[in-house]
Amino acid sequence: MQTSARPKVAIIGAGFGGLTAAQGLANARADVTLIDRQDHHCFQPLLYQVATAALSPADVAWPIRSILSRQANAFVVLGEVSAIDVNKRDVHAEGVSFPYDYLVLATGVSHSYFGHDDWALFAPGLKTLEDARVIRRRLLLAFEEAELAQSDTERARLMNFVIVGGGPTGVELAGALAEVARRTLPSDFRRIDPRRARIIVIEAGPRLLAQFPPDLSAYALSALRRMGVEVLLSTPVTQCDSRGVTAGNTRIEAATIVWAAGVAASPAGDWISAERDRAGRIKVNPDLTVPGHPEIFAIGDCASIADASGRPLPGIAPAAKQMGHYVATVIAARIAQTPPPAPFHYHHYGDLATIGRKAAVVKIGRIELTGFIGWWFWSVAHIYFLIGVKNRLFVAATWLWSYLTFKRPARLILDAESPGGGKNATR
Ligand SMILES: Cc1cc2nc3c(=O)[nH]c(=O)nc-3n(C[C@H](O)[C@H](O)[C@H](O)COP(=O)(O)OP(=O)(O)OC[C@H]3O[C@@H](n4cnc5c(N)ncnc54)[C@H](O)[C@@H]3O)c2cc1C
Repeated sequence: MQTSARPKVAIIGAGFGGLTAAQGLANARADVTLIDRQDHHCFQPLLYQVATAALSPADVAWPIRSILSRQANAFVVLGEVSAIDVNKRDVHAEGVSFPYDYLVLATGVSHSYFGHDDWALFAPGLKTLEDARVIRRRLLLAFEEAELAQSDTERARLMNFVIVGGGPTGVELAGALAEVARRTLPSDFRRIDPRRARIIVIEAGPRLLAQFPPDLSAYALSALRRMGVEVLLSTPVTQCDSRGVTAGNTRIEAATIVWAAGVAASPAGDWISAERDRAGRIKVNPDLTVPGHPEIFAIGDCASIADASGRPLPGIAPAAKQMGHYVATVIAARIAQTPPPAPFHYHHYGDLATIGRKAAVVKIGRIELTGFIGWWFWSVAHIYFLIGVKNRLFVAATWLWSYLTFKRPARLILDAESPGGGKNATR
């Protein structure tokens, strides 16, 4: 139970980092307040499957309250943090103040449009379940509208799908969308042939999946091209509007654009006036505290720290979880007045990305996997990291069914978008 006499730990963000930190404090003599603006913890690695109708939102998200329901010292708050008073040691959310003795910032990142925030209206990014539902709606509506299009030009525009960014999210989205267009939809339409949809990945850098070795990038490129995906490399997008994009010197008319390019850190650094790196992430000490504030920690995607070889830690789930686990041990040691653990050490297990059915790239140490074996490994790893037996079984069964039938079980167009992001604004 929470008591007023025990140290108070406030954690902002119940993503991979914040949730792991909260769970790591289960046995500490502390009261833990976990604040998130969403009521659920989201498994972002499978969001692209929600966006392409392979999985439903509930397959990749869990209520935070339910995850922590048995942790008596955890108090869950649904609320958006707007400010932190570092002098009074108060977190402000939804007009309520939450005092803290220790504060963990785990607010992740958001999309960066490289100074063109107005592009967000035309090219939604993929970070939350809401984003995934918006993208799913736009993808599916494009085919519906193409079926009724009055001119060849308009039909072609509706069947052009542009994905900006050739990192894992862009590659995964492109491969999944190619399967939807070529395998799932063809027999369902009468006037259009969904197989003729153009799926175009535009990447500013010279290769896809830049964090993988060049041979795996080349594999991903040829696998996507085999699936009929067009890939433009070394081609920055210079314009994005309601009718399409300009990439290099090429204008591409497209009704659906998805942004999978840049990320920007959350405003957490502003709240505490902390020093940040160029991406806006909070620079932290080797024990993940914020310089000048031994009581404040920053972890996960919103933190900036280098590994033993001086490279910045990657913005991936295992890094956030390891940091969450580490700060829990530091805070627990301080409360118990035992010696602090050694400085944080990140262990990189590997990189994985799937391209589509029977195609994935995996790099674990010196081992590289591609093709069916890579895809199998990717599938097992992702099922393993889902929360709860029910979700693991359900997702595994859904994938098996989709694999055998090419069907997409979550192919529903739901929820009108908000007026600011209305579909008419994008068409
Ligand atoms: C589409 C996609 C695919 C990915 N695929 C992979 C993958 O295959 N493998 C992999 O390892 N990593 C993957 N990642 C990266 C991985 O998801 C992140 O590195 C990880 O989520 C970072 O964890 P975090 O705790 O720092 O932040 P997050 O998990 O993003 O959590 C941040 C939390 O903070 C909350 N929050 C933010 N601001 C506020 C506020 N003001 N008030 C209250 N709450 C707030 C948010 O609601 C959110 O719940 C992917 C990411 C995306 C977007």
